[in-house]
Amino acid sequence: MLNLVLFGPPGAGKGTQSAKLIEKYQLIHISTGDMFRMHISNDTELGKRVKQILADGMLVPDSITIDMLEEEVKKNPAAKGFIFDGFPRTVAQAEALDVYLESNGQQINGVVQLDVTQDEIKTRIAERQKVSGRADDGADKLLTRIDEYFSKTIHVLPYYEAQNKVTKVNGIGNIEEIFTNVCTAIDSL
Ligand code: AMP
Repeated sequence: MLNLVLFGPPGAGKGTQSAKLIEKYQLIHISTGDMFRMHISNDTELGKRVKQILADGMLVPDSITIDMLEEEVKKNPAAKGFIFDGFPRTVAQAEALDVYLESNGQQINGVVQLDVTQDEIKTRIAERQKVSGRADDGADKLLTRIDEYFSKTIHVLPYYEAQNKVTKVNGIGNIEEIFTNVCTAIDSL
């Protein structure tokens, strides 16, 4: 099994790189953001509970997010591994993921940190909103999301650094070049 975490702020390119990685390494892509958006567009019970939270750019409570993620992992017993994109976003989520994987004799093999500046994030997300129309990509909600990232999510890095699992990759530049560097990081795990 190859279980990877793609880590970085909103707009770091996690979704773009994940799409390329699943093809190359035959992994299952789990994006908790995509899953929440799917629940919202299907108007499920979970979708109703989280709709406003996403619209506000806040993090969904850990218990809801962890339960949803574990369900998704369980649905793929034959997977060669997973790419976790946008999860974990809190230390509690990272701990829960470790406990869950360990109970199945697995672990996170590596964390790839996509390194981008705040200026770059703002430019990219403004561009993305023109295409995606995502309400939480709007300027004010983006500030909340960046705030959530620096107040809660950033602490996930030292958690994995203490396990010697983090490789930092420059997330600015050509998509293919970034992909090559991400693959080099993964291949040397
Ligand atoms: P993303 O598509 O990864 O940028 O996620 C969009 C939104 O979904 C976030 O702003 C949060 O509201 C919610 N979300 C996604 N993943 C998580 C997570 N791991 N923990 C809490 N909230 C999340």
